[in-house]
Amino acid sequence: MPDLPLTLYRAAWVLPVCAAPIRDGAVLVGTDGRIAAVGPRLAIEPPEGVVIEELGPVALMPGLVNVHAHPELAMYRGALEDLNFRDWILRLVGSKRAALTEADFHAAARWTMVEAVRSGITTLAATESSGASAAVLCESGLRGVVYQEVFGPDPAQADESIAGLRAAVDGLRAYECDRVMIGVSPHAPYTVSDALFSATADFALAEGLPMAVHASESRIEQMLVQAGEGDFAPGLRARGIDTPPRGRTTVEMLDRLGVLRARPLLIHCVLLDADDIRRVADTGSAVAHCPVANARLGHGLAPYPEMIEANVRVGLGTDSVGSNNRLDLLEEARIASILHRARVARPDVLSPADLLKLVTIDGARALGLDGTIGTLEPGKAADLCAVSLAAPHVQPVHDPLAAVFHAARGCDVVMTVVDGRVLYRDGQLSTLDPAGLEPLLADAARRLREVMT
Ligand SMILES: [Zn+2]
Repeated sequence: MPDLPLTLYRAAWVLPVCAAPIRDGAVLVGTDGRIAAVGPRLAIEPPEGVVIEELGPVALMPGLVNVHAHPELAMYRGALEDLNFRDWILRLVGSKRAALTEADFHAAARWTMVEAVRSGITTLAATESSGASAAVLCESGLRGVVYQEVFGPDPAQADESIAGLRAAVDGLRAYECDRVMIGVSPHAPYTVSDALFSATADFALAEGLPMAVHASESRIEQMLVQAGEGDFAPGLRARGIDTPPRGRTTVEMLDRLGVLRARPLLIHCVLLDADDIRRVADTGSAVAHCPVANARLGHGLAPYPEMIEANVRVGLGTDSVGSNNRLDLLEEARIASILHRARVARPDVLSPADLLKLVTIDGARALGLDGTIGTLEPGKAADLCAVSLAAPHVQPVHDPLAAVFHAARGCDVVMTVVDGRVLYRDGQLSTLDPAGLEPLLADAARRLREVMT
């Protein structure tokens, strides 16, 4: 990486996460893209040759970590409204196959990265079948993990599916770097056989690949796992695939199949019981909590306070815009807080200080990146975002944390920095061009509508 200018960012508030908010704070970013100093502005003497950036009335904090998204699916925003889950999945999978091309997935991944950068997201965990996000993470300058999906509900397909997964991962390895990790994702219990789950876990462990699985998301998934019944069962049986009971719960099934040995990121975990939470905690597995998507699809609310009580690593994810419609982690955090307070009828659950951790260091921990990012402290990568506190809907500011998490929105982000490199500042993107992408996304959306009507 070329040397960056030594830069001193000064802000009305600095939120280090690992320390209390600093009024009139400053962050010094070295030429290596790492944080060199954090403190009150008066305590950080500007070194010789430094570029001083006066950011004014903003909260400067670590970049946001979105632990679950599907960047290749940006064209699905608003396309799958109000459907039951089986129809939602079938329409998504069918239309994707019938109408979309690799070029569409690349355009969608770029579009998602534009949204991410504009809303302060600096690390994005992408779960997808095309792998498009690997190239786009590289070109955009964002940090992320690309979990290559693998499918195959028929146990007889397992060898073929694993061969395809190996080839796809080999292809994506060209994009691996300090910022971009490649992983694997056996999609979900209703699309992956026991044999394929076990084989993917063996592959991930042998190759040292991170792994993500959609797990315990819906009642119909649970009915399939517990009893081989429910909305998913007839379709599988019509394809000649047996649907025997596979476990008391999805988490118990994944444990039995050896999947939890790979300490996967378990996406959703809406229907975990106490035994499941213990298994997730004991194996050191992590959870991607996606409260908006889970609520919008009518699945419910994951037991976040209980998971935290058990010391489970939990990060926050938006999921795809086909289920959430927004890729706004500040909004996701606010809604998480509101939903959990409503569920347990307590006003002290998920305080703004908790939300700050959830979208930064907790997300980093869930992805195994907490040694590199997630807090503002010397030696860590300079992944930053600045949230403006100036807008009428944010003022007045009594407490910067409450202002950021309960008044501001993703569109109030005015600067996004990864590894010390400015990717977004005051409406200007430095690495991505949304104007060229708009017609491509619109065309993909038009073809989707044609096959879905
Ligand atoms: Zn998902």
